[in-house]
Order: sequence, then C-alpha cells, then structure tokens
Amino acid sequence: MTKADEKRLNDLFTLMNSPPSRERKLIIGAYVFAKHAHRGQKRLSGNAYFLHTYKTALTLAGLGMDAVAIAAGLLHDTIEDGHTTEKELRNEFGDEVAFLVLGVTKLGRLKYQGLKRHVESLRKLLLAMAEDIRVLIIKLADRLHNIQTVGYLPEDKQRRIALETLEIYAPLAHRLGMSTIKGALEDYAFPVVYPEAYQETVKLLDKKSAEYINRLEKIARRLKRKVSESRIRIVKTDYRVKHLYSLYRKLAESDKNIEEVYDIAALRIIVPTTDACYQVLGIIHTLYRPLPGRVKDYIASPKSNGYQSLHTTVFAGDGGVVEIQVRTPEMHRVAEYGTASHVSYKEGTAEHAEWLSRLRTITDSDDPLGFLKNLKNDFLNERVFVFTPKGEVIDLPVGATPIDFAYAVHTDLGNHVSAAFVNNKMASLNTLLKNGDIVRIETRPGAHPTHKWLETATTNFAQRKIRTALNKERRVK
Ligand code: MN
Repeated sequence: MTKADEKRLNDLFTLMNSPPSRERKLIIGAYVFAKHAHRGQKRLSGNAYFLHTYKTALTLAGLGMDAVAIAAGLLHDTIEDGHTTEKELRNEFGDEVAFLVLGVTKLGRLKYQGLKRHVESLRKLLLAMAEDIRVLIIKLADRLHNIQTVGYLPEDKQRRIALETLEIYAPLAHRLGMSTIKGALEDYAFPVVYPEAYQETVKLLDKKSAEYINRLEKIARRLKRKVSESRIRIVKTDYRVKHLYSLYRKLAESDKNIEEVYDIAALRIIVPTTDACYQVLGIIHTLYRPLPGRVKDYIASPKSNGYQSLHTTVFAGDGGVVEIQVRTPEMHRVAEYGTASHVSYKEGTAEHAEWLSRLRTITDSDDPLGFLKNLKNDFLNERVFVFTPKGEVIDLPVGATPIDFAYAVHTDLGNHVSAAFVNNKMASLNTLLKNGDIVRIETRPGAHPTHKWLETATTNFAQRKIRTALNKERRVK
C-alpha cells in the first residue's frame, strides 16, 4: 500500500466518523481488491480507473451511508469492468456486498444490445433498488462522478448521459429527498444538455445574487438579535442560492420574470427544537410582514420525501421579498441527504414502501420504450401532493385527476367512483388536481369504470386498473 493509498483510506475513515476496526477491515479489503481488479485501466480523463470507484465511495461516506454500502461503492465496477465474477465477490465479501454490486452492474453485452440493453439495465437496477434502496444510492454516487467527468467523453455520449441524468437520476434523487445530490447532478448535466440556456441563467443569477445576499445578511443580523433576546439558541444560520437548473426550470415553466421567483436565495435558521421553530416563525412575522399564502408548515405536514421545515416569504422593507426557512438540525440533515441515509434499508419509510410497490407494477411492462415512458410519467415527473379527508398525503404526477387519486388510494375506491369533491366542492372527474387540494371520493356499488376514464386518468397505474376492470366486466356479460 502506497502513501497515497493510506491518505485516501484515512480521508474515507474521517468521513465515516472513525469506524470500528471490523468496518475498517472491510473497507481496506474492498479498496485493495478494487485497486487490483482495475489495475492498468484508465478513464478517458487519463486518471486511473480505480479513482472513479474511490470517488464513488467518498460520496457515499459523505452521505452517511454504512460500511457495507461504502465497500460496495469501491467494488461497484469490478464485475462490469474489472473481470471479477459474482462468486469471487460473494466469497470475499459476503452476500450483502455482492447483492449491491450486482444491482448496479449493467447487463451483459451478449444478451442485449443498444437501447434494449440500456433499458433492461435500468429496469434491473430499479428492481434491485426495490429490494434494497442502497443500490440506487450507490448508482447515484457513481453517476455523480460520471457526470462531473462527462467532458472527456465523445459529444453524443455526453449528451445522452447528461439527458438521462436530468430525466431519470436527478428525479430519483429528489424522490429520496437527497437534495444535495439532486442539485449537483442537475447543475453538472445542465450545461451539456442546454448550453445556451445555461449561459443565460448564469448571467441572470450573477446579476441578481449580490442584491439578494446583501438583503439576506441584513435580515439575518436583525433576526439573530431578536431571537437571542427571547433566549432561543440559534444553532446556525446560513443561506442557499437556488441551484441553476431549478431556477431555469422555474423561469421556463411559467414564463416567469426573475423578479417573481421568491426563493432565488433563502435564509435558513436552524434551532434546536420544533417548538423553537414555531417561536422563531412568530418572531419573523412580528418583524416582517409575510406574503399571504406563502407560509408553509412542512413540519406538521411533511413533503412526501420526508422534508420538514417552516417556510415563509416576507417583505424585506426595501421593496424586495425574502424566503426564510426554519428547521431543526435533524430536519436539516434529512433535507440535505434524504431519509434514506438513516432509515432501515430494507424497509425504508412508509412513503418509500408505497412508491416502490407502484414501481414494481411498472417494471412489469414488456415493451422497453413503454417502460421508459411510464417510468418518466408516473414516477419522475413533477409531483402534486393532495390530501385525503383524513389528512393523508397522496403523491401524484402533475396532470393527475380525481380518478388517479382514487386508484392511488385503493383499487376498490377507484373502481366505484361516482363523484368527486375537491376542497368540499363537487368537481368533475377530469379536474386537474393542485398541490394541497383535499379530495373526497364518493362511491356507489353500482358505479363502474368506463372507457372514457382511460382518457381521464393520466397515470399508467390507474389506466391499468381501469383496463383490468373493463376486461372483467366484459367477461361477466
Ligand atoms: Mn462506475
């Protein structure tokens, strides 16, 4: 082992918060094995191939992943590019590590080619991820380094990888609430896919950000004084500037003027407890008048990816407005790294479980292009979050209707819809649902899906259930 190897391992152990010796052994073993498996191989950048797997492991350690996942990160390309067999990995590192590595390994070149190989590999990844979410997190860390170094690839390949990063991997990171990774994936892919829009957005943000940051710092000073007067300890204040790609999306989406994007920069205040969060919100509103309709309590009603915080947008007093987010340290960790980094990998959260079970029905599709389309439509599109009358959150793609809602709650509910009420008003079945809508479905035993519902429903999930019900009816008659 060289000096450089020792330093790399030490950096990894530091990020892992000094792991016990059993875990160190596993990591050192994986490091040495991977380095050997990739000996002599170079990336197009000219760097040793092995450094790519090391970077992947570093990202995983930074996310707070466990030693098994970090070891699998080091080994993730040993089968695909390092001529290692599954059996060797199993003997050397056990079933768990082997499963994770196998999950991120592409399918053999002999069995499938071209687009088919690509799509089948993606499907295989998603199936493995449904069993163990760490498979996806390793893939995201792998993709992060690949997109950071994408400039060394031929141009057509650059574009394909960057587009796939924007369309599939960043949305998957978002679904897990891993906002740091999501933002990084998008901001590296953005200039490759949309070079001109990228330049424009950079210019726009440059012009504005100094003004915003100035304003934020002034408000932060005043708030800090007031908050400490009320004996609440502030753990930290900082601000974040909106990621370039999400700013671009927001501007493009609604033909918005940059003056109308209120969260270009947001002030974050981190305080020790949930109670303190609400107290600080009160202090903010006594100092600055809030914009109506922009106060959001994601502590009482978390987003479906687990995100919690209080948000408010206030008039700064100088003609501008500012978004302020208040949260606890634990909420902050979840906001940056997602819930996946600390929940049980096998079970995940209730939301993940629900999401993964729907994902399984999608991976069933036989036709590869249909599968890709459904994946993007049902899972990775922008989402709306609506509520059942009991306050449960139902997570649907933009464009969803009460029919989609009903089937997302329960097949039986979907199959007997007779009327829908949105926010207590009777609504037609093709109403487009909006964030925060409360939807109540009325059923009648005699009500049945009709062919028209196939158009009314926008999720593949609901359409499938409708088709099944229609076929059944035909058989009965
Ligand atoms: Mn890789």
